[in-house]
Amino acid sequence: MLTCGCGRWMHTDGIEERAYDDGAAQWFIRSECRGCGFKVGMDVPVGQHMFIDRLMWTDEALHRLERMPPYLAPVVRADVERDVRARGERVVTYDSVLRVRTGEVIEWEAEAERRLENVPAPVRAMARIELERTAADRGMARITVALMEEVKAKYFGMGKAS
Ligand SMILES: [Zn+2]
Repeated sequence: MLTCGCGRWMHTDGIEERAYDDGAAQWFIRSECRGCGFKVGMDVPVGQHMFIDRLMWTDEALHRLERMPPYLAPVVRADVERDVRARGERVVTYDSVLRVRTGEVIEWEAEAERRLENVPAPVRAMARIELERTAADRGMARITVALMEEVKAKYFGMGKAS
């Protein structure tokens, strides 16, 4: 738990899943003191629950949930939270949603993974999420080069790779 300078507990406000150039994944935790309004943000390694005061959804996981049809979202929310609690975890990540929805984390074809590594770092995390979303929406368990080409053309306005 995190304590504000004014002496009150800091309330966890949100979590962002971030990926850095070296491939390390981090959580950026936003906390707020409801007493004096002081806000703080910090980067922690993924899985570090020390500063998170309750079960939280990351922004990416929430975004995933918001894209689901209204009849499906509450069911998925309950399933995912049950799954996360059963694992003794406190954070619902983008992958936790996929895990419940498709039964497993989306896999990457070796060639697709290799191509992703050539995508400039600032775009890479977004490209990865967009590809996994598209695959999950179609019930695909694997990212292929063909899907990559399609998504690239649609979201990033690039033509076929030569
Ligand atoms: Zn305070």
